[in-house]
Amino acid sequence: MKILVVGSGGREHALAWKLAQSERIQMVYVAPGNGGTARDARLVNLDISDPQLLADFVQQEHIGLTVVGPEVPLAAGIVNLFRSRGLKIFGPTKEAAQLESSKDFAKAFMQRHGIPTAAYQTFSDVAPAHAYIDAMGAPIVIKADGLAAGKGVVVAMTLEEAHQAVDMMLSDNQFGDAGARIVIEEFLAGEEASFIVMCDGKNILPLATSQDHKRLKDHDQGPNTGGMGAYSPAPIVTPAMHARVMREIIVPTIQGMAKDGITFTGFLYAGLMIDDKGTPKTLEFNCRMGDPETQPIMARLKTDLVTVMEHAVNGTLDAVELEWDRRTAVGVVMAAAGYPDDPVKGTAIGDIPAETPDSVTFHAGTRIDGERLVTNGGRVLCVVGLGDSIKMAQKQAYETVEKIHFDGAQYRRDIGWRGLKH
Ligand code: ATP
Repeated sequence: MKILVVGSGGREHALAWKLAQSERIQMVYVAPGNGGTARDARLVNLDISDPQLLADFVQQEHIGLTVVGPEVPLAAGIVNLFRSRGLKIFGPTKEAAQLESSKDFAKAFMQRHGIPTAAYQTFSDVAPAHAYIDAMGAPIVIKADGLAAGKGVVVAMTLEEAHQAVDMMLSDNQFGDAGARIVIEEFLAGEEASFIVMCDGKNILPLATSQDHKRLKDHDQGPNTGGMGAYSPAPIVTPAMHARVMREIIVPTIQGMAKDGITFTGFLYAGLMIDDKGTPKTLEFNCRMGDPETQPIMARLKTDLVTVMEHAVNGTLDAVELEWDRRTAVGVVMAAAGYPDDPVKGTAIGDIPAETPDSVTFHAGTRIDGERLVTNGGRVLCVVGLGDSIKMAQKQAYETVEKIHFDGAQYRRDIGWRGLKH
């Protein structure tokens, strides 16, 4: 069987790496891929980004199924297009992807279906937005409605920051159309966790739990990023918490979408905030896997991913039971100098240690330049270590990280710290 993975990040490298391990796989194509997928003899990079041309290629090459990594092609309707041409693809339709592509849609949906989330209001005019902030007080959270690559959220600790965020989005149009409407919501305190499931339209299959680290620097300091590391499993999601999240958030979401006439297929990612009383609320939905959560999750998955994907596109996920490596996986992102504002591209990257049973390095912003591997984006690599405890997994990951050199590399030294508290 041949499979196509759409995307170019560490998430897509990890998915392609796992798919390529299957005895049933003939070829894994990655479009457009990165330096790591280019170097892996079992993977083939495709330099095609237009979804119509991708669909043509899938038809010509008899590719059995396509898996989509990032949100942008999903929100643009790649699943609708492939399905209209009779091609098997795993992901949500454009309509279902609104859970991620419009925060106003997601909030109204959660309110309508009684799914726990922060109180909110949506605004497109400046004056009422300012008045709402004055009435609610700080801290308060301002979010651009549309996709803004993780940059469209301001957690304002003061009224001044909140008012500035409104002006930046509504008056200065810093996010263009994505910020023409904004959601202003209640600040939630607690600990975050990533809860990801696969859904085939009827059946829901939860993946292993994980936790992301969004800030650039140790101890959760510095600016927000796309994610500086993740680990799996997340001890805060106890079996009781898992059951509660399924009951109160995941199942009502899939059923609510169905009631609204939208069948949800694909990965559904609920970003949770769990307060000190142990009450989970939904911060956001993503309609794809997380990056970097995918990297440690794939490193722990033992079940054949090709078979899982087949069940996912055929509506038979109820036949699948996932098997996980019992060890913890810690994924440490190595980012380029200048990240997140202005990452330096073209920096030479030294040798990357070969994969072992305890460590694997996934590429993100890398590309091949002649004989050299060079940086090509903000997050460059994600080094995953596996161990019997979080500490041992950290040790594995950081031993590998320390062997990899490129000028200006930035990485956190505390990935997994929240798990150590539990
Ligand atoms: P991404 O796609 O990168 O996950 P996003 O742009 O969709 O991000 P959110 O996940 O909604 O944005 O918010 C980003 C971060 O802001 C969250 O991970 C969380 O740390 C913080 N945040 C969001 N909403 C709230 C809230 N109501 N209270 C406190 N913190 C919040």
